[in-house]
Amino acid sequence: MVSDIQDTIVALSSAPGPGGRAVVRLSGPNALGIAFTFFQPTDPPGAARRRYEGALRLPDFASWIPASLVVWPEPRTYTGQNLAELHLLSSPPLVELLITSLLNAGARTAQPGEFTQRAFLAGKLDLPRAEAVLAVIEAGGRDDLKQALAQLAGGVSRPLQGLRDDLLDLLAEVEAGLDFAEEDIRFVQPEEMLKRLAKGLAQVTLLSKQLEKRGLSGSAFRVVLAGRPNAGKSSLFNALTGAAALVSPEPGTTRDYLVRRMLVDGIPIDLIDTAGWAERRTLIDSQAQQLGKQQTEGADLILLCLEAGGEFPDESELTEPGRPPVLMVATKCDLAKAPHKYLATSAKTRAGLNVLQNVLTEYARSSQKESALASSLSRCKHHVQATLEHLRRAHSIVLFSEPSEVLALELRGALDELGALFGAVFTDDLLDRIFSRFCIGK
Ligand code: GDP
Repeated sequence: MVSDIQDTIVALSSAPGPGGRAVVRLSGPNALGIAFTFFQPTDPPGAARRRYEGALRLPDFASWIPASLVVWPEPRTYTGQNLAELHLLSSPPLVELLITSLLNAGARTAQPGEFTQRAFLAGKLDLPRAEAVLAVIEAGGRDDLKQALAQLAGGVSRPLQGLRDDLLDLLAEVEAGLDFAEEDIRFVQPEEMLKRLAKGLAQVTLLSKQLEKRGLSGSAFRVVLAGRPNAGKSSLFNALTGAAALVSPEPGTTRDYLVRRMLVDGIPIDLIDTAGWAERRTLIDSQAQQLGKQQTEGADLILLCLEAGGEFPDESELTEPGRPPVLMVATKCDLAKAPHKYLATSAKTRAGLNVLQNVLTEYARSSQKESALASSLSRCKHHVQATLEHLRRAHSIVLFSEPSEVLALELRGALDELGALFGAVFTDDLLDRIFSRFCIGK
């Protein structure tokens, strides 16, 4: 539910816990009044945006607490409303007392993402940019961060802003023509319409290609092949990726590591073939050695290759907090039978490879759902693709001189999709889905 934007909301905006500085943020009509209830500035307060030094006086607390207050009077603020931030030492009981006092003075606890939701509702950010705020906060690596920042800077919305205006004009002209259909008055000639639609098609196609590439250059799901030397890792790697890495009957041929990207249903999966484990006392010893290696860092899944007919570990040995999940596959199943419940594969006969690929894709798909950037990208891609289809149909309607009523329908369809992409049209459910993923205070 979109909460009442007339409420003044409060939340801790910095990381909780003991630390150098806590930032308690307020937004809403009474943000400044409520903040000044407890904050005594050294200079008299004025109407301008500025930072005040001073101290806090909290109920049931005799001493003054050094603090500063930054105020941004509406409307030129992040949320479009009065905004205030109290900065103080990050002492958890102190922060708790301050927030309780602010709540007693009339503020309400902010919901997750409510500050950014207000920025969106005030028209300060469109939906792709609001989603990018979360993606920046959540970025797991430099690639993700780069993409999220590009989106925050308008990388998705900017190229489409002009198109939206042009389509609105075009629709107005087509609909005006409908009113004068009997007189056969045309407000825009078919050649002109084709030109404008072709330009729009080119813009949307370009953006769609860029979004596809973004999905690819973003962090792919990393699957590291692991297992003892000669377990058949390189052969499985080759069979899955179609690559021709060096495969040899001598143990330990894969000296370094190789990375190849597979693309299944548009989902990028990086398969990493590592050096084999040196023989160790126990499987866990060797796994620890393997996991310590640089190339397994950041693995999303470990594909543990075990030779059919060989020794299979106890599954309980393999799960440990903080370690990526381990998927065990039996290799060389053309030579021996895989133990019951292990995924049986053979690089030689390709048995089980399709099933393995599907399992990997499922893992990758469910991990994608967790990333803010991926879910924003897939939302944008969906609307961009739908816009493209409406524009293609609109173009062919003009080309084959079909009725203007149908053309108007397709133009409306394209505008609805663009509206949904920007967030000009939204439902409470959609906002809930997007903003509930934020932490409180953002
Ligand atoms: P790695 O050291 O784990 O990378 O193992 P390799 O992929 O180099 O394979 C070791 C040996 O096992 C090679 O001689 C491969 O030809 C053989 N091998 C690998 N996969 C299969 C398989 O599915 N069936 C059979 N019969 N041999 C395999």
